[in-house]
Amino acid sequence: MSGKLAVVGLGPGDARYLTREALAALDEADALYGYGPYLDRVAPRSGQVRHPTGNREEGARARAALAHAARGAKVAIVSGGDPGVFAMAASVCEEMAAGPPEWRALDMRIVPGVTAMLAVASRAGAPLAHDFCALSLSDNLKTWELIERRLAAAAEAGFVIALYNPVSQARTWQLAHAFTLLGRHLPGATPVIFGRAVGRTGEGLVVTTLAEASAIAADMATLIIIGSRETRVLARDGKAPLVYTPRAVSSVPA
Ligand code: SAH
Repeated sequence: MSGKLAVVGLGPGDARYLTREALAALDEADALYGYGPYLDRVAPRSGQVRHPTGNREEGARARAALAHAARGAKVAIVSGGDPGVFAMAASVCEEMAAGPPEWRALDMRIVPGVTAMLAVASRAGAPLAHDFCALSLSDNLKTWELIERRLAAAAEAGFVIALYNPVSQARTWQLAHAFTLLGRHLPGATPVIFGRAVGRTGEGLVVTTLAEASAIAADMATLIIIGSRETRVLARDGKAPLVYTPRAVSSVPA
């Protein structure tokens, strides 16, 4: 059986962020699966069939791609950023675990991509240079109570926090609640970065403080980085400030 499945990360935006490995995996595929807007980022190739799906259909998309590959085709599923970060790679693993034995026997590989938090961090400076964590603010797949516990624990432990999925059309109040909660654990002057559509048209970057953060608009294409007590902002004349977290911790919170 010569079927293959590649789960490919496209990076945060346009084609210059595609790795050579990702490009080769896309080029090799007979069929492409993915959320429609992500598939639109892939340059068309004749003879290649596209199967766009909605963004809530990860399980069904993974099953369709696995079944297709099991019939002997070379299949690629695409994700924005990295496929292992709040994306398709785990859905494929879950469906392989639950599906027929031939899915487990497939030649499946995961091709990494530049995840959004790295793209945003690089635009702002070096906020992730010390210990950090990544959290999705979406309560579609976990409870809001668990999100609050993790936010508080991360802030208390001194992690810089990269916040994926800060808002959606259905989730409008969560982000303001998150800032209020973090304000109980961190000083109001803590640096906060909003990176929107980084690497794509409409890219925007805002550097603010935790006290002012609720006033900044965020949408589904925004990733937010909340500093730790150590994170600093270096102002520069006529240039964007640099947000960075020093490599060494200078003080341990009581
Ligand atoms: N697998 C993706 C993340 C999927 S979750 C990755 O590794 O990047 C979707 C969330 O990622 C969005 O709500 C947003 O928070 C963030 N995101 C994705 N692309 C982005 C970009 N170009 N700029 C800023 N944030 C982005």
